[in-house]
Amino acid sequence: MRVPLIAGNWKMNGSLALVEQFGQAFGKAALSSSMDVAILPPLPYLAAAQTAFEKTPLRLGAQTVNPELSGAYTGEVSASMLAEFGVHYVLVGHSERRSLYHEDDSAVLARAQAVLSEGLTPILCVGETLAERDEERTETVVLNQVKTVFDTLDAQQRQHVVIAYEPVWAIGTGRTATPEQAQAVHAAIRDCLADYDEQMASTLRLLYGGSMKRENAAELLAQPDIDGGLIGGASLKVDDFLAICQSAG
Ligand code: PEP
Repeated sequence: MRVPLIAGNWKMNGSLALVEQFGQAFGKAALSSSMDVAILPPLPYLAAAQTAFEKTPLRLGAQTVNPELSGAYTGEVSASMLAEFGVHYVLVGHSERRSLYHEDDSAVLARAQAVLSEGLTPILCVGETLAERDEERTETVVLNQVKTVFDTLDAQQRQHVVIAYEPVWAIGTGRTATPEQAQAVHAAIRDCLADYDEQMASTLRLLYGGSMKRENAAELLAQPDIDGGLIGGASLKVDDFLAICQSAG
């Protein structure tokens, strides 16, 4: 039984007021107890969110991490620092980090290892570009991104990863993968995970991300291999995000 996870990636958006608004709304929201919900605010809001979300089902996540433990890395934060603020999930390999900040597969792996070494959960983002989909290379690209990380992690570490399939052409574009397109890639990822360990493959959570919103969440989440969502734009409006959570619960 896989517990659904809905995670809101605020990217470089939000404010202290939005943190408070989410704390208040989720403090009184009726949500299923058999689901996980997280907000990944910008790093400066972590302390305020830790307090505001204390009596809510919201868990905290971070959008990035440096693989090093400490040192002369101006502007960066380590996994142990995130852990001190009660962070539970950390994105690694988000397509914006891959393309804008040149984080390649080895950088993604190093970040996943750093996150796991602090007992936190990496959300490993994978996904193909539109050109790669048009060239019918979706599975090759996505499964390579998964394998780069999973080949190096040990069996124990693998169990603690969440994977988010996010077609790059669907992120922030308003263009969503159809439930069938998303399900096909999720099923391919789960098959690939089964080559490592069938038990791990059957319990590991696979999220869909890419213009998921209140209008399309239910049909995406109804797919057998979609265990939740990574939500960008629609996680900035509390009513929309709540509605998506309610479709998962
Ligand atoms: C994301 O940033 O991971 C994302 C899925 O964004 P959006 O929902 O806005 O497409």
